[in-house]
Amino acid sequence: MKTKCAKCGYESEDNLGKFQTPLCNICFRFAPNEEKKFKEYILEKIDGKLLNTFRKFSEVGNLQKKGMLAKASQGLIMSRPPFGYKFENGNLVPAPNFQEVEEIFEEFLKKDVSLTKLAKKHGLSVNGLKKILKNFTYIGKVKFNNQIHEGKHKPIISSTLFNHVQNKLERLGIK
Ligand SMILES: [Zn+2]
Repeated sequence: MKTKCAKCGYESEDNLGKFQTPLCNICFRFAPNEEKKFKEYILEKIDGKLLNTFRKFSEVGNLQKKGMLAKASQGLIMSRPPFGYKFENGNLVPAPNFQEVEEIFEEFLKKDVSLTKLAKKHGLSVNGLKKILKNFTYIGKVKFNNQIHEGKHKPIISSTLFNHVQNKLERLGIK
């Protein structure tokens, strides 16, 4: 009989249990041993889509090293949606401010752009801005285990715009 993971909703025959709560093997790995913390952990929202992507890759054996598995799933479990997106029922969907992402990309392509000014204008830190400009999520992809894969979410900017921005970042030596 299949049971549903209480944290991410993953249905499987071999879900493990903790405090009488069914958990998939990934969520089980990060579940705290202290009951109160455990309950908080279960209530925390996670991005089920990303976790499923992760699961797929770990099943095909790309992530067999334990440390890598721990690091990757922790990153995914803790991850907040990127600027311009939100989580809805575990899915990544465009947030009300999604058009601001395109504006940021367009503005960055302007002549004599200042990262500091652009960041300030959008209420971001310079590092936050750089992360946005390099984030493959915006063209519908997921970066996973240092590889780029096709995601299931909706892109919010065009690949052309994204590529122009990558070229400019490279030209300016922005890392
Ligand atoms: Zn789970």
